Formats: sequence, C-alpha cells, structure tokens
Amino acid sequence: MSGRVLLLGGTSEARALAACLVTDGIDVTSSLAGRVARPRLPVGAVRIGGFGGVEGLRAALADYDLVVDATHPFARGMSANAAAACAAEGIPLLRLERPGWEPRPEWHYADGHDAAADLAATLGVRPFLTVGRQELARFLPALGQAAVLARVVDVPDLTLPDAWRLLTSRGPYTLDGELALMREHRADVLITKDSGGTYTRPKLDAAHTLGVPVVVVRRPDYGDGVATVHDPAEALTWVRERA
Ligand code: NAP
Repeated sequence: MSGRVLLLGGTSEARALAACLVTDGIDVTSSLAGRVARPRLPVGAVRIGGFGGVEGLRAALADYDLVVDATHPFARGMSANAAAACAAEGIPLLRLERPGWEPRPEWHYADGHDAAADLAATLGVRPFLTVGRQELARFLPALGQAAVLARVVDVPDLTLPDAWRLLTSRGPYTLDGELALMREHRADVLITKDSGGTYTRPKLDAAHTLGVPVVVVRRPDYGDGVATVHDPAEALTWVRERA
C-alpha cells in the first residue's frame, strides 16, 4: 500500500482537506482527539481518541504512508508527538496551520495564558474570556474576583468562581451576535488565543467597534523544522505529489 494518509484534525481546515482528499479518491483517515461531546465530523474514515503518546503514534503509523497535522495552532502536544513519531518512523509529515490574525493597535499580545490573565486584570474588570475550556483554570488566580463571561464549547470540569458566568456555544459567530453579547455583558476586555480563521473572528471586530482592548495569547513557537503550509489547497498539492 502507498498513499494512506493520516490527517490529524479537529479544525475546519482539516475537514476541508478531508473532503478534497475523499473527492480525489485518496485513502484518508481523519483523527480526532474526542474532547468535545458532539464533534463536527469530516467526510471519510474517522478514528477518535489519543494514540498513547509518541510510542502509541509510532505504532499506529504502521498503517499510514503520509501524515498531515492539521490540528489547532494551540494543540501543541499532538503536533510535537507527530513531529517526533514521523521522524522516528521516516514518514513524511506536513503541518497545515492557518495563519494568525493580522494585529490591530488595540491588541496586547501575551506569551502564554498566565501572562494573558495578568495583563487582562490590568485592563478591565468585566472580561470576555474565549480561550477554551482547557485553559480556564489558568485565569482563576488573576481574574477569580472579576465578572468574567467565559465562553466554551463544553462545560468545564472545574468549579468556577461565583462572579463568573459560563456560556456554552460553538462558532461560527456573527458580528451582530458578538456585539450584542459584549454589550449585554458590558465587557471591558476581550481575551483570546491567536487562533486565526474566520469562525471566531467577529469577536475581534466587535471589540474594535466597541473600543474594547484585546489580550491575544501568542501562538506556541514549534521551532521543529516541520514543513508547514497555511491553507488546505497547499496541503492537497503536497499529498497529491506523494500519494
Ligand atoms: P493537545 O494538547 O495538543 O493534545 C493532547 C493529547 O490529545 C495528544 O497528546 C493526543 O493524545 C490527543 N490528541 C490531540 N489531538 C488529537 C487528534 N487530532 N487525534 C488524536 N489524538 C489527539 O491537543 P488539544 O489542544 O487538547 O486539542 C485537542 C483537539 O482539539 C485537537 O485535535 C485540536 O485540533 C482540537 N482543537 C484544539 C483547540 C485548542 O485551542 N487547543 C481548539 C479547537 C480545536 P495521545 O498522546 O494519547 O495521542
């Protein structure tokens, strides 16, 4: 066999690439972590759940010839494991990473979530926190007393302070909806990761319209030399050349 593709997913770009590969008749299996209760499933074959670290992924790679890592730009653990396992097994690896957002003057960048929490505490008392369920605990020390509106996809396994309000929802979002939400909460600072893409972009436009400062968590710097492209069409070309 040759040309069997393992597509590490969980993003809209991964779903777009899976659809193209299936249309091309390429043997692709999308892999999801299984973190969210009702994941958006890509077309084609899907496997769900962790591999069991680098060693587990190395064993799984026996069934594949190519790997595309199209995980979220902040899914650092999976990307590091993919780089290590593919190098060890001699399997070609491509990273598909959507570009970060173009910065605006009112954005304050922070290196990591702890720094973002400290920075946000200096900018406002009614934060709109949109960094995802897994990172909420990092914001408790600095923002435990603040009137936080925390928006997540699934309810976190964490007791939140009384002052916090939890909102479960999933994008894509609209500018009108984000404006209404931020006005209703009287948000005075927005906290986000530099996720990039269009699904969650409207909150940034709403903050701009409302004059609300934004704290942006910088992307992790992989620095591992893995070949990287920024849109699914480029990834499709890379796979076609090899599959
Ligand atoms: P992570 O911290 O990088 O990964 C932690 C562990 O979860 C990995 O070591 C792996 O377990 C498992 N895992 C992650 N992605 C996987 C995948 N696509 N297929 C199989 N196992 C996977 O990842 P994360 O930040 O928790 O993100 C989990 C998933 O949600 C990713 O697929 C990502 O694309 C998606 N996502 C993440 C974010 C975010 O902000 N982090 C946002 C939107 C979507 P083993 O070591 O057992 O293999």
